[in-house]
Amino acid sequence: MLSCNNKGCGKTDTHVLDAVSNDVYCVACDNIIAGISQFTKAQLKNLKQVKRPPKVAYSVRCDKCKVESLPKLQNDELVCAGCSSILKNISRPFEIIIRGIIKKGEEEL
Ligand SMILES: [Zn+2]
Ligand SMILES: [Zn+2]
Repeated sequence: MLSCNNKGCGKTDTHVLDAVSNDVYCVACDNIIAGISQFTKAQLKNLKQVKRPPKVAYSVRCDKCKVESLPKLQNDELVCAGCSSILKNISRPFEIIIRGIIKKGEEEL
């Protein structure tokens, strides 16, 4: 059982995993809950208890033009929104998240 260890909170069932920073946040007080095991984090992920930060959190810095932005999809490759060069410095899990966001964005249009 997980409980928030931040002062004055102590809620037990209101926490989410930040998939980017891999920190666990308490929804009630919006603070990081320290000392969470990798096992528990994996469980939160499986339960889809994942924090959804604003889109700007998924921006990638381009090596070529040094612009930080949410990439776009081109020929099924993630490319820089600024200069359209292929972004190679994205980790696989992060790439999957970004692809999901781009897809979702297209659906909303
Ligand atoms: Zn809390
Ligand atoms: Zn660029």
